[in-house]
Amino acid sequence: MSDTVVVQKYGGSSVADLERLEAVAQRVATTRRAGHGVVVVVSAMGNTTSELLALARSLSPAPDRRELDMLVSVGERIAMALLAIRLRDLGIPARSLTGSQAGIVTDESHGDARVVEVRPHRLRAVLDAGEVAIIAGFQGVSTAREVTTLGRGGSDTTAIALAAALDAAWCELCSDVDGVFSADPRVVDGARKLDAMSLEEALALARGGAKVLNEDAVRMARDAGVEIRAVATAGPGSGTRLTPERQPASAATAVTGSDTLVKVRIGPMERDLAIERIRQAGGRLRRRVGERLYVDITNVHGPDLRHAHPSVSEEGPAAIVTAVGSSLGQRMDLVEQGTTALLEGGVWVVTQGSEGDVAWWEVPPDALAASVKLVHQRLVDGIDPNADA
Ligand code: ADP
Ligand code: ASP
Ligand code: MG
Repeated sequence: MSDTVVVQKYGGSSVADLERLEAVAQRVATTRRAGHGVVVVVSAMGNTTSELLALARSLSPAPDRRELDMLVSVGERIAMALLAIRLRDLGIPARSLTGSQAGIVTDESHGDARVVEVRPHRLRAVLDAGEVAIIAGFQGVSTAREVTTLGRGGSDTTAIALAAALDAAWCELCSDVDGVFSADPRVVDGARKLDAMSLEEALALARGGAKVLNEDAVRMARDAGVEIRAVATAGPGSGTRLTPERQPASAATAVTGSDTLVKVRIGPMERDLAIERIRQAGGRLRRRVGERLYVDITNVHGPDLRHAHPSVSEEGPAAIVTAVGSSLGQRMDLVEQGTTALLEGGVWVVTQGSEGDVAWWEVPPDALAASVKLVHQRLVDGIDPNADA
């Protein structure tokens, strides 16, 4: 096996059709020819995962979560086999492995499982044999030996878990954007590409809803000290390096938004159990204001959360704008400027908060995109990061 192992993850849009799969095969071949040991993690082609979930939902409003995992884990397996077939045809020895075969062991939370251990023996054997390992992202095997999936965007998590287990030199997350921007470039015209960002800020951004990075992946990279390079699959861009070093305190680095949230109230009865049940249903707690919780329901595939526990009452959908920056939560002047920008822009601010590296504002869901633009304009474009706090 070569001394340096590099992990490359290709997202769904990068393998959406055979033409793009070919570009990925060429990029992998180039990395292999440079002498690196290469582990490739692939997502399902294009919108396969969403389409499979929709198929299941057309049969049942609350599909069984184990069966859903059996279904959606197939998407990544199609992509891995096609890529291995093409690489072998190019004369690059390659072997595909499912998440289970690659040794990704998870807990038993179907649809939103956490990686508890990686057993990379088989993967190492593939690399030792000089082959490129192509791994199906987003999936593992539970401690009860069932197929599990890691939540939407979970191929990032597979890549970081493997990079940590193999002590890889770095982990590339290859996508349709050239790295992490100061806001989603599809929403905010003036969004700037960031050359570097701390993993701590990146985690806050991912938790705020920026799809470009998966929350669990960033947390794992931070904890294991894995360097992430977020890059475009196509094109010469330099991407974004996500590193453990904290950036000096500054204004806002990036702004994001999420509208996959619901507000729930938890009554006094069995509060901890109720929260645990929300989590088991695939919900992720984002913010808390007194008895009210904001829960991200991206990985909830059943009926609403009231069914999770009798003390849960669901109040309806919610949207939150989040600004991220080192110690931003302590800069009350900037938080107030964000609020002013929203109010002046005609947005009703339902509630707001700030802590650590984030400031956030709850806004009406139909005003989310406009709100992200307003906060970005005021806090990222409008503030001199070198001005005194
Ligand atoms: P992949 O399938 O490659 O994992 P995703 O669709 O999950 O890609 O994530 C990439 C998308 O994330 C981009 O197309 C972009 O619209 C969106 N995005 C959201 N916030 C940001 C941001 N701050 N910087 C870059 N892209 C972002
Ligand atoms: N295919 C999965 C999804 O669409 C995992 C991923 O893309 O990372 O969420
Ligand atoms: Mg993704």
